[in-house]
Amino acid sequence: MSKIILTGDRPTGKLHVGHYVGSLRRRVQLQNSNEFDKIFIMIADAQALTDNADNPEKIRQNIIEVALDYLSAGLDPEKSTLFIQSQIPQLCELSFYYMNLVTVSRLQRNPTVKSEIQMRNFETSIPVGFFTYPISQAADITAFKATCVPVGEDQLPMLEQTKEIVRKFNAVYGETLVEPEILLPDNKACLRLPGTDGKAKMSKSLGNCIYLSEDEKELSRKVMSMYTDPDHLKVSDPGKIEGNTVFTYLDAFCKDEYFAEYLPDYNNLDELKEHYQRGGLGDVKVKKFLNKVLNEELAPLRERRRQYEKDIPYVYEILKKGSETARETAEQTLTEVKNAMKINYFEDEQLIKIQSEKYANN
Ligand code: ATP
Ligand code: MG
Repeated sequence: MSKIILTGDRPTGKLHVGHYVGSLRRRVQLQNSNEFDKIFIMIADAQALTDNADNPEKIRQNIIEVALDYLSAGLDPEKSTLFIQSQIPQLCELSFYYMNLVTVSRLQRNPTVKSEIQMRNFETSIPVGFFTYPISQAADITAFKATCVPVGEDQLPMLEQTKEIVRKFNAVYGETLVEPEILLPDNKACLRLPGTDGKAKMSKSLGNCIYLSEDEKELSRKVMSMYTDPDHLKVSDPGKIEGNTVFTYLDAFCKDEYFAEYLPDYNNLDELKEHYQRGGLGDVKVKKFLNKVLNEELAPLRERRRQYEKDIPYVYEILKKGSETARETAEQTLTEVKNAMKINYFEDEQLIKIQSEKYANN
């Protein structure tokens, strides 16, 4: 069986370091491993519209931002198909048929959708499109016959939903769709990177992000005002590591070689943590180190982004070409789906023959 990746992001803003460690960094590694037959990376504009229906301009403006973030992170249009969801109408058609395989109560149980509804104060006015987006995500994944979906932990319920749809579809209509596997970050800190305010998730919607394209000054401002251990008041006080965002970010980004370069008093992160817990290590020193680490990690991305920013029409061209390729693949799957469901009235000579015979003796 082919090894195929499908994943993507909503163009509701620039991508942040949470996206990077949760999925984007992994995608680039997988792309460069050459172990996959096909890689599809989707800018999910139609999904973004499900909770931004009154602000289509926001989505429109952010498509190029996400594309630039992709390219700056190292996604290579020669190796990965970068495309825009709305340009693949086959995905809507698949969703429409999948909707019949899912119950309302099943959708209501989805914990990620539940918390997103709360976050958006949608309780009494949930748009139907938003409520059903896990089904449209199943269409996105299955249209490309994805076997591997590298995403953050918040996407687990979506993958479960997709698997259920695949099983149900195959049981009812015959083996057609491929069951995908979720690929979560192997580093615990990256499963759901917290925001700079210490809140559970860095999210565009919560305004607690460090963006991939952040300039040095803004990055430093954000890092220096980050949430740490609120009880760690004096340098001499023992500090807590758990729930301390600065250390979570170091878990996600730090490599041993950064100590030799920027903090030679320590050999590795364990030693730094140990000192912080013991007392005698101030937040400012740790934050300055984190700032250096993040700067080092983001510098090559910033540089690549600057290059692509010089030729925006080329970036749109990449997305246009990618969308054409993606459409062909999705069309192929849609044909298989409709054949399995026997929605192929005009192509099925047998059907026409049988119906003719039925009326032949009248
Ligand atoms: P929005 O607030 O518009 O939903 P978002 O920041 O949640 O935006 P998405 O576009 O919904 O971003 O998510 C894209 C991908 O990034 C998904 O794979 C998701 O799991 C991952 N991701 C998003 N935020 C984080 C985070 N804080 N930590 C780890 N992964 C994340
Ligand atoms: Mg999200």
